[in-house]
Amino acid sequence: MHLGRPTETISLRSPILIKQLVIAIYPGSFDPITLGHLDIIERGAKLFDQVIVAVLCNPSKSPLFSVEKRINQIRESTPHLKNIEVDSFTGLTVEYAKSRQASVLLRGLRVLSDFEKELQMAHTNQTLWDGIETVFLATTKEYSFLSSSIVKEIAQFGGTIDHLVPENIARDIYTYYS
Ligand code: ADP
Repeated sequence: MHLGRPTETISLRSPILIKQLVIAIYPGSFDPITLGHLDIIERGAKLFDQVIVAVLCNPSKSPLFSVEKRINQIRESTPHLKNIEVDSFTGLTVEYAKSRQASVLLRGLRVLSDFEKELQMAHTNQTLWDGIETVFLATTKEYSFLSSSIVKEIAQFGGTIDHLVPENIARDIYTYYS
């Protein structure tokens, strides 16, 4: 039987079970990745068979770091996670998810304003493809205020950001603003 998604055969004496792998896409700008994003990636990696961290190429935004740089930054920040892939995409997230045989969109929730935006996006995506489920992970308390924009704002004015982003990202940001 063709299930349309990657499968894994697990032998438990008998009978043979076919387990459907659950692939989650974690889409975002990640400009740059913060410890808040990393926390969601690490927790997602425990919940799903594979997590694809997908950097959105948005031509209407002028990011701090190029898409290629952001991909490398995320890879450098996640060597300890074996079921993570980092990629980029353009266009509709659901189309990308389909092309990667993913059934879950992973998103993080911080404050109430995130909820409104995220709920609208989740409902919209469901109307585009009902094969996708959005799964929200609540932020860890200490990262509830943390966003890429906050990090950039602090760094721009010469503040310390070592406690907000992985070490390699802090180096890149300090270099950028020096
Ligand atoms: P986008 O431009 O799509 O919002 P972001 O890179 O800002 O991309 O965020 C990607 C996802 O990560 C979003 O679901 C966002 O809510 C979540 N996220 C960002 N920062 C945090 C954080 N500190 N804690 C939990 N989730 C977060």
